[in-house]
Amino acid sequence: MAYEPVWTANSDKLNKFEFAKLQKDGLDVIRTIIEEYAHKGYDAIDADDMSRFKWAGVYEQKPKDGYFMMRIRINSGVLTSEQARMIAAIGKDYGRGLIDVTTRQAIQYHWLTVQDLPDIFKRLEQVGLYSYEACGDCPRTIVGNPLAGIDKDELMDTTALVNEVNDFFLMNRDFSNLPRKYKMSISSNIHNNGNAEINCLAFTPAIKVIDGEEVLGFHASVGGGLSAKPHLARQMDMFIRPEEVLKVAEGVTVIFRDHGYREKRHHARLKFLVADWGVEKFQEKLIELIGPMPTRGEDKIAGWSSSYYDGVHPQKQEGLYYAGLNVPVGRLNSEELEELARLADTYGDGTIRTTQSQNIILTGVPEAKLEQFLNEPVLQRLTPFPNRFMSRTVSCTGNEFCNLALVETKEFARDVAKYLDAEIPGMEEEVRIHFIGCPNSCGQKHIADIGLQGALVKTPEGMVDAFDIAVGGTLGPEAKFNTALKGRVRHDRVAPVLKELVLFYKNNKLDGETFHQY
Ligand code: SF4
Repeated sequence: MAYEPVWTANSDKLNKFEFAKLQKDGLDVIRTIIEEYAHKGYDAIDADDMSRFKWAGVYEQKPKDGYFMMRIRINSGVLTSEQARMIAAIGKDYGRGLIDVTTRQAIQYHWLTVQDLPDIFKRLEQVGLYSYEACGDCPRTIVGNPLAGIDKDELMDTTALVNEVNDFFLMNRDFSNLPRKYKMSISSNIHNNGNAEINCLAFTPAIKVIDGEEVLGFHASVGGGLSAKPHLARQMDMFIRPEEVLKVAEGVTVIFRDHGYREKRHHARLKFLVADWGVEKFQEKLIELIGPMPTRGEDKIAGWSSSYYDGVHPQKQEGLYYAGLNVPVGRLNSEELEELARLADTYGDGTIRTTQSQNIILTGVPEAKLEQFLNEPVLQRLTPFPNRFMSRTVSCTGNEFCNLALVETKEFARDVAKYLDAEIPGMEEEVRIHFIGCPNSCGQKHIADIGLQGALVKTPEGMVDAFDIAVGGTLGPEAKFNTALKGRVRHDRVAPVLKELVLFYKNNKLDGETFHQY
C-alpha cells in the first residue's frame, strides 16, 4: 500500500520538534554523523542534529560532556551467538565493557564518543544488527516472544512475522517522522509475554473458525503506553490472519502518522488519539484504509508470565531445554556476554535471547549436557536459580547516565533486592519490584507488584533522593496499573519500608491471593 501523508496540512500548530523534523528527516542524521561529526567531534554538533541523534539510536549521556549511550534493536530479543559476540566486542572496545538489557529486549551501551559511532554502525551492520530507529519518533524495536520457535505455549512461531514487520518499517522514510515514539509487540505466546497492553500496537494469539476451518491468528490492541499518563491498549473487534499482520501494522501506523497529535509533545503518543476517538472510531478508520476484516475470534491469552523464565525448562522440541538466566537489574559486562555466546555454541542452539524483564535465555540445550552446562562459572552470577527478590527486580538507567533522571536507580535497586533477600528468606512467591528515575517509566513501574518512582524530597540537610511507591500492577486478563500509596519515602528508608510492606502481604494474604488482588 502507498498512503499519501496528510498531516502536514495542520502544520500551523506544530511543536518546535516538529519543525526540526520537517527541516531534516531524523534518518538523515546518520549520514551527517558518519561524514561530518565523527571527524569534527562533539563540539561541532548542531543542537537540532543532537536531537536527531535518537534516529541513529544514540542519546547524549549525563552530564552532556561528550559521551553517548546507544540502543541496539533486537527483534523479539533473539540474537545469534555471532551477533552477541559482536555486541560484546563493541562494548569492550568502546563502551567500557558495560552492557545493559532494557525492558524492550534491546541492548544499551554507554560511554561512546561521536568518533566511535561510524565503526560501531559498520560492525553492527556486518552481523545484521542496527541501532537505527531504536530511539526517536519512529517505529522502534518490535518486542515479542523470546522463545519463538521453541515455545510449548505459543500458537505459532512468530520469528518470520516479526522480521517481516521490522524489515518493512526499519529505515522506511514513509514512517520516519511520526508524532512520537511508536512501540509494537507481536507474540503468539498464551501467557502474554509480549506485554501487549503497554504497547501502541500489539498482536496477541487468537483462533477463529472461518469457512469451517480453525485458523490460527491474532487479535490486535491499540493505544497502550506508560509514562506520566499510562494507558492500557484496547482490543479492536478484528481477527487477523498471520499474512495480514503487516497490513494492519501499516494501517495503524498511517493513522498515527496522519492523525496523531503534533501540537504538544507530551500529548503526542498514539494512546491519546485512541482515548479521544475511542477504539470503535479508530477501527472504522483502519477499515477505511485496509478494507474489511473478520470480527474477533477466540482470545487465547491465559494469564500473564510477566516475561520471566528463570530456571531450566523443556522446549517444544523433545529432549531440549532452555535456561532463563538472571541478569541482576539488567546489567552485565562484555566478558560475560562473550562467555554466554560460547555457551550458546557449546551447549545450545547458538542463540541468546533477551527478555522484557531485562534477563537472558539460553536455548536448545540437550538433556545430556544440562549438568555440565549448569556448572559453567559464568552461571554463578548469571544464575538460572536466583534469589527471590533479585530475580524480580527491574530498573531503568537512572541518573548514572540518563539526563531526565531525578535519582540514581540501578545500583540502588540492586542493593534493595539484596537487602530483601537477606531479610526475608524463604519468601515463596515472587514480588516484582520496578524502579524508575522519572515519570517516563522506562523501567515499567506501573505494571509492577511494587513500583518505585524517583523524586526529590526536602530535608534539613537539603534535597535528597526519595521514591513514590505504588502497589498492585499487572497485565493479562486482569490488567491494571498499580495504585499510588500516600507519602514519599527517603532513599535510606526505602528498603525497610519495602520489607514491612512485603511481610504484611506475606502474613495476611489469603490462600491463592496474589499481590495485585490484595
Ligand atoms: Fe531516564 Fe526516566 Fe527512563 Fe529512567 S525512566 S531511564 S530516568 S527517562
